[in-house]
Amino acid sequence: MKLAANARAVLLVNIGQLLTLRSPSANGGPRRGRELRELGIVEDAAVLYVGGKVVCVGQTKEALRDPWLKKNRKKVIEIDCEGQVVFPGFVDSHTHPAFINPRLVDFEKRTAGATYEEIAEAGGGIRSSVEPVRRARRNELAGKILAALEEMAEQGTTTVEAKSGYGLTPESELKSLEAIRGAASQWPGTVVPTLLGAHVVPQEFKDCSQKYVESVCKEMVPQAARRKLAWFVDVFCDRGAFTAGEARQIFEAAADNGLRVRAHVGQLSETPLGPLLALRPASLDHMDHISEEDIQNLAAHDTVATFVPGANYFLGLEKYPAARKFIDAGVPVALATDYNPGSSPTASMPFVLSLACTQMKMSPAESISAATINGAWALGLQDRKGSVEAGKDADLALFEAKDYREVAYWFASNRCVLAVLNGVLIASAGSGELG
Ligand SMILES: [Zn+2]
Repeated sequence: MKLAANARAVLLVNIGQLLTLRSPSANGGPRRGRELRELGIVEDAAVLYVGGKVVCVGQTKEALRDPWLKKNRKKVIEIDCEGQVVFPGFVDSHTHPAFINPRLVDFEKRTAGATYEEIAEAGGGIRSSVEPVRRARRNELAGKILAALEEMAEQGTTTVEAKSGYGLTPESELKSLEAIRGAASQWPGTVVPTLLGAHVVPQEFKDCSQKYVESVCKEMVPQAARRKLAWFVDVFCDRGAFTAGEARQIFEAAADNGLRVRAHVGQLSETPLGPLLALRPASLDHMDHISEEDIQNLAAHDTVATFVPGANYFLGLEKYPAARKFIDAGVPVALATDYNPGSSPTASMPFVLSLACTQMKMSPAESISAATINGAWALGLQDRKGSVEAGKDADLALFEAKDYREVAYWFASNRCVLAVLNGVLIASAGSGELG
């Protein structure tokens, strides 16, 4: 439900804990090591935003003394946060919302003991999502994507990276990106579109993957770039998908067309990262299998390592990414849902935070930095997103909690009562009255 138009001035007051995530003094890059624990908390805080941008952030009593506010009080919509917790809106930097059906057969097969790879070999997996997407009309796909974005916002997410990747022909990949753009135009948050033509080799190219890579490089990437349908190009670089050499080829095609790159790496097997890091990916995601040497290698770069533990959870894996090793080595880390029909059908960043704390031994504070400011870095949006600071976009999430640690603590429940997306207020379905 929209409560206010974009251009109005809105003042949130009586915030019990405001997590500003304002820049720590250090290097100015993505958060690493101890910086991940610096949340910049202001107690009894207020935030004023006008026209979708944060104007000032401080303590409630100081904000109310502000001369501009005193003069304009009547024009300002005031929301009493009743001592609860406010975060920067989550930046979900890895999602696959351009699909039609849930994959319930795969889900049931896994309960009977089949693995992700066995299911893929038997015709399930990513390939089983392809036909419905190829057949779907663009508007049908856009409707599915918009529903996912709305569900994400209800749980505090205000920025979403959205990949294509279930069409696997130039026509249906571009249709997926158009559907992402269509959904984004109806959603007040920010959507970052990514071309994932190289998700898996489609059936018709089964024995000639190189020909498919050529189609990605020579048709999909240039067309997506020319039509400004994607900001990033992604590759699933792993056993059963694309090799590091193929990923490099696709990265080079992206660079030639002015697009930035990111990749899925190390979900099923280890891929040496050196050749990919040389092309400066914004993010490398999954990272379940990685050598000690490559963790050190990553620490020397600004490439963000993005963990998606929802996939480990849903696939019933015992092993989760070794977050502590990454953090202790100084690698900038992010967290994302990996929202997709096969391995992580969740829109919930709070649940991902919970998994990061319980299964990966990240502290609650680290998990929040990873899901906000470092997610913004993973998308190149650090100047606009991921923290609550004057001049940044008004992206906020209000939680029914007195302490920020509750958000990861109450798992599988939604405590988000209000989200602000580029200045537009959306009340969560289950929330009571506000303000
Ligand atoms: Zn993914």
